[in-house]
Formats: sequence, C-alpha cells, structure tokens
Amino acid sequence: MTLYRDAGVVLRTHKLGEADRIVTLLTRERGLVRAVAKGVRKTSSRFGGRLEPFMHVDLQLAEGRSLDIITQVETLNPFARDLGSSYPAYTAGTAMLETAERLVSEDGEPAIQQVQLLVGALKALVGARSTPGLILDSYQLRALAVAGFAPSFDACARCGTEGPHRSFHAPSGGMLCPDCRVPGSASPSPATVTLLAALLVGDWEVANAADDRTRREASGIIAAYLSWHLERGLRSLSHVDR
Ligand SMILES: [Zn+2]
Repeated sequence: MTLYRDAGVVLRTHKLGEADRIVTLLTRERGLVRAVAKGVRKTSSRFGGRLEPFMHVDLQLAEGRSLDIITQVETLNPFARDLGSSYPAYTAGTAMLETAERLVSEDGEPAIQQVQLLVGALKALVGARSTPGLILDSYQLRALAVAGFAPSFDACARCGTEGPHRSFHAPSGGMLCPDCRVPGSASPSPATVTLLAALLVGDWEVANAADDRTRREASGIIAAYLSWHLERGLRSLSHVDR
C-alpha cells in the first residue's frame, strides 16, 4: 500500500454506501482529487468534522485501485466552522468552491497557486476584510488568471493598444479598443473598469471605495467572463468523451 501526504481544501462530499463518503479536494500536489473517507458518517468517526466542505486540511492517503483512501486528517484552518455564522459569507464561499472544482482539472498536476488563492480568499471571508461579494469577485478573476485566462482591463485584448477602453468582450479576453470592438460587446462605466482591474490584482483600497452600482456592474462582467470560459471548457470535455 503506497501512502502519500498532501494538503488542500475540501470542495464537496457525497455519500458512499452506509457509512462512507467520497470527498472531492483541491490539493497542492495533485490538483483535484476524489478520495474515500471510510466510516466518516459514524458518530464515532476518527475524522470528526474535518472532512466537511471548506475545511483546509493536511492529509495522508493510501493509493487505491480506483479511488485513493484517506487515512489521516489534520486541520490547518477550520473554515467550515468559521463560515457557518454568516450566510452571505457562506454562500460566497460555496461559489468559490464550485469555481475551484470547475477550473482545476483532474490530471494529477500540482495546483499550488490555486490552493493558495482559495485559502487566501476563505481567510478574507472569515476575517471580513471586504464584503463577501467583492471577495468572491476578486477570487474568481484571480482563479481564472491562474488557470491561464487572465482578462485584460487596460490594454486592448486584441491589438494591445493602451487603454482605458470602453468595450468589454468575454470571448476576446477583455477590453477592446474602438478599432477592435465587435458586436455584442458590453460597455461598462469607467469606474467599473477601474474596479475590475483592482479586483484582479487585489487592490482592496480601490475596490472597497466602489459604490453599489459599480460593484453590481463588475459582478455581471465577471459572471459573463467566467461562464464563457466554463462553458467552453465543458464543450471541449464533451468532445473528448465522444
Ligand atoms: Zn484593439
């Protein structure tokens, strides 16, 4: 039996048989991992509540024939406990876990930056460093950037001409200059473009100063950009399956 250690965040769990669970984790060394936690649903389980979604844990696993088996768990940050008391923080955190699961692949490659980013965002939620909505928006932009889809909020995403520009087009990768503008581009306000750029680099002084209307518009742009990339990802996956 080959044992190995890893650290990461529990993204999701589902029931397996009478007492077990399959736990989906975002880990530093192996990216997205699905592993079995035996006996975890018994009240006497030695894992306690350490394998709930949001928990940041250090693990020992045994390689299995199909799924690996979790043999030891130590808590690094008890985010599940800390997020339970604030509904807005909990829902923003849930969206982060879903985003992480969709953006990181199951190819066994390390995901150190994605783990750091998610742990940092969950710490920011617990510490109420900004509103849950802004922390989520910033996390999603930065997770996209780490996955290789950094949007451009200054230079034109097509020709590189220095901004600021007025048109945003998700399939093109960000803001477009008047020459490159394509039909279907959005026209966010200059304040929204400033907020988006601040969220991408984690400039909280600028981000926290934005008004509600600007925040709403930025959230809409980020949601459009994220869903465009995720839908494209799913489409390419369905090609592989067939
Ligand atoms: Zn251009």
